[in-house]
Amino acid sequence: MKNISRRKFLSISALAGAGAIITPQAALTSTSVKGSREEKTIPVRILGKTGLEIPILSMGVMRADNPAVVRAAYNAGLTHFDTAHGYQNGKNEEMLGVFFKNKDRNSFTIATKGKANLKSENFEAEYEELLNTSLRRLQMDYVDIFYTHAIDDTGSLSDPRMIKMLKKFKEEGKIKHIGFSTHANKPAQIDEAIQVGIYEVCLISYNFTLGILPELNEAIRRGVDAGMGFVAMKTMAGGVEDASGNKKIDGAACLRWAWQNKNITTAIPGFTSFDLLDNCLQAAYSPELTEPDIRYLAGLTNQELLYCQNCGKCVGDCTKHLAIPSIMRAYMYNYGYKQPALSKATLSELSLSGNECSGCSACTVKCPSGFKVAEKIAAITPIIHVSPYFLT
Ligand code: SF4
Ligand code: SF4
Repeated sequence: MKNISRRKFLSISALAGAGAIITPQAALTSTSVKGSREEKTIPVRILGKTGLEIPILSMGVMRADNPAVVRAAYNAGLTHFDTAHGYQNGKNEEMLGVFFKNKDRNSFTIATKGKANLKSENFEAEYEELLNTSLRRLQMDYVDIFYTHAIDDTGSLSDPRMIKMLKKFKEEGKIKHIGFSTHANKPAQIDEAIQVGIYEVCLISYNFTLGILPELNEAIRRGVDAGMGFVAMKTMAGGVEDASGNKKIDGAACLRWAWQNKNITTAIPGFTSFDLLDNCLQAAYSPELTEPDIRYLAGLTNQELLYCQNCGKCVGDCTKHLAIPSIMRAYMYNYGYKQPALSKATLSELSLSGNECSGCSACTVKCPSGFKVAEKIAAITPIIHVSPYFLT
């Protein structure tokens, strides 16, 4: 799927300019900045039938390794924190466990994610152990949301073993709400989740570059009508303005764009520093999309950014059927987020040699977004041979 065209982007965003963003239903209430002399508020929205009230800005903790940034976010009034079993080999969950140990359990909500290996004969025991390990690391009896992680194919959400285990986790009180996260086939995944009926939250990649925005927004609306809540990730489309990864994107404009959709309850940008947190907070205090925001984002719609649309078209085009969308994500983590360790961890799941394209005299992949796929693969896959000792 191609990036959205400038024209389509402008027509979708025009409503936003008319001030239709933060509707009374969407911004039911707001949260104040703790300890601030100036009264600053962040609007709060309801996460579907979970009933959870969450500020529109949450923290994607994925890449953060400094508990002081988590503390600053918490003190600024953020209440929702998103991690995953696999982030930083479990250290991310451990950091949150230490930080929240003596905090009032009603003052925050935690979401974690676990990847289900439905191909394994021991899926049930393995998935249970995965969740138990996450709870041990977090030092918590339960998580507020448990997402079955990175569901990119249809059929997994309705697999009877998946349904059985997620219901069991909830019945045992280890998870309060069932969710799934997805980067690919999003409208189809949402419809499947609606049909299954147990999924209360969807964590979805959502940003201004998506070529499928009209279909996706419709699918999200169907999900909301069925009681699902939606959380947005990858809102900053790779974090940079250019394919070489040199110029930071205006994250505040990206967030304001995502919030214009009142069906998105909250966004989980992965800020790792006080500066980036501050930038996100400034957006949350003034969340209405502005005309300059629209002009700025429209100007980026024709550029090659680092965000892969995950349309999957390249997989069929590639003679080796490489998992190109995942490799492109690893490329974005390294060149956009400047997180080589995360990039290597993403590639490690794919059993690559680091020399994947050497047998092809010409690349047969035609990416509609204009990604030079073979070049990017050659630039990122050698990282799998770099010792973790040298990676941050
Ligand atoms: S790299 Fe592949 S999945 Fe990503 S946008 Fe291009 S064709 Fe689609
Ligand atoms: S050059 Fe690489 S990406 Fe292109 S077809 Fe060959 S293996 Fe696939």
